[in-house]
Amino acid sequence: MAIRVLRNVRGKRGIPVRKGKTYCSPWCNCGCTYKEYRQAMQHALQVERVMGKGWKIRVWENTGWHFDATRGLARLSFSYRDKKWAAELFRFGANDLEGKGETPREALHDAILIAVEQNKKVALALMKITSYLVPKR
Ligand SMILES: [Zn+2]
Repeated sequence: MAIRVLRNVRGKRGIPVRKGKTYCSPWCNCGCTYKEYRQAMQHALQVERVMGKGWKIRVWENTGWHFDATRGLARLSFSYRDKKWAAELFRFGANDLEGKGETPREALHDAILIAVEQNKKVALALMKITSYLVPKR
């Protein structure tokens, strides 16, 4: 699947302009850098290369350049603060959950392990409740 570079605003105001180290559109005007854009594109390309088909990969500008990739309940991103990949699983249990890793695959694997662990806890809790529902002989 191709990487989609999103425009937040139609027309000229939404087109990023390269000026020295900045790469920012007039509507944003926050001094987004070309380096940030390149990093976002590199992460997007990495997901495309290693994660296989079926991922929706987006790059966009909004007070900085960002990217994410989604497939089903999963969303991959890169945390510049932690310098790690992050994988979120949405609508999973009471809270969305997030795994971390050195690669997108590691982050997704971590998220899935957390989901399995949470599911075990839910299953055990349900077994306790449902034991009251089983008719006694
Ligand atoms: Zn900008």
